[in-house]
Amino acid sequence: MFKGNLIKIFLLIALTVLLASCLSGCFVTTECTHNWSDATCTEPSTCTICGETDGLELGHKWSDATCTEPSTCTICGKTDGLKLGHEWSDATCTSAKRCTRCNKTQGKALGHDWSEATCTSPQTCSRCYQTQGTVADHIWEPATCYDPEYCLTCGETRGEPLNHSATITVDGIEPTCTEVGYTTSIKCLYCGEYIVEPQEIPPQHSEEAVWCKLLSVHYEVYPCCGEKASEDEAHHKINGICDICGYDPALTISSTTAQKGATVSIVVSVADNPGVVGMQLTFEYDESVMTLINVSSGEAFSALDFIESGNYSSGSKVLWDGLDLDVNDIKDGEILIFTFAIDPNAAIGDYNVLVKVKAYNNDLEPISFKINNGVITVTE
Ligand SMILES: [Zn+2]
Ligand SMILES: [Zn+2]
Ligand SMILES: [Zn+2]
Ligand SMILES: [Zn+2]
Ligand SMILES: [Zn+2]
Ligand SMILES: [Zn+2]
Ligand SMILES: [Zn+2]
Ligand SMILES: [Zn+2]
Repeated sequence: MFKGNLIKIFLLIALTVLLASCLSGCFVTTECTHNWSDATCTEPSTCTICGETDGLELGHKWSDATCTEPSTCTICGKTDGLKLGHEWSDATCTSAKRCTRCNKTQGKALGHDWSEATCTSPQTCSRCYQTQGTVADHIWEPATCYDPEYCLTCGETRGEPLNHSATITVDGIEPTCTEVGYTTSIKCLYCGEYIVEPQEIPPQHSEEAVWCKLLSVHYEVYPCCGEKASEDEAHHKINGICDICGYDPALTISSTTAQKGATVSIVVSVADNPGVVGMQLTFEYDESVMTLINVSSGEAFSALDFIESGNYSSGSKVLWDGLDLDVNDIKDGEILIFTFAIDPNAAIGDYNVLVKVKAYNNDLEPISFKINNGVITVTE
């Protein structure tokens, strides 16, 4: 115990001696005239000689980070972290791409994307739905007989259907011998639909069938076109006359009255011409009373060649000749016209003109005619 306290006392003395010697030393050396540096962000004001400091360091003064600059000390320029970068909003029809923080813009506004105006909506931007102008006119499709005018865009209708309100009359067509005809019809002017349908009229001959009387047969024929209406059939003759077709071929010389010294014509006609293609006609008359001044062929034999002798007297002949006559060339009527001058001194009375005939048909079959002789009655 005693020994321990002794050590403590000894140490205390030693310390005191040390402290006293140190203090006495300082008072001995000269005092430092400090040379202070400015305080910086990280260092207090410090003596460049003794290293003594004064006060505290300033600490950084950080500015806020911006889009383009990081947080920066306004004193020393030191930076902290990264710049923020722009916060771009999308470009719109009317404004360019824009930073929501710093309002910087980039590029251009998109501009509106206008659709065409229609009858239901004006020009409209497909992006922002802004509109401009007014609605367009309807595009009217013309009315038909069944539908009124309507708008091709919106389907709106206007007015009434035409309802076949104007018509045209289409003239009928007469049937012919071989072609059908049609009755008069009425059509809609707008749609062409029939209001009154045309009715077909079967082919019709425009003329009644007549008998064609040949030498040994008869048949019916339509004069309008020559079409046969019945088959060939033999005549059914009673007393030389067919009681079906009336076939009775005859040559008739007209009778007339003439004054002395006059000029007079008489005519030879054929009836029931059975198809004469060749004929020789011999005529006789009283030459002391009549002088033949002209002979001419008639219409009924116009399809035949008339062969004139040129110098006629009683007993002269006239000739006709032809080839393969068409049925339409076989006609009844005048075949010869005589023109006589009557002698001024002729005696009053009846004078016969006589004819004799030889005739044949296409098949060179002879044809016989009943002859009806004519009389010229000479008067004062
Ligand atoms: Zn100092
Ligand atoms: Zn700083
Ligand atoms: Zn920005
Ligand atoms: Zn827009
Ligand atoms: Zn419309
Ligand atoms: Zn119509
Ligand atoms: Zn006909
Ligand atoms: Zn007959």
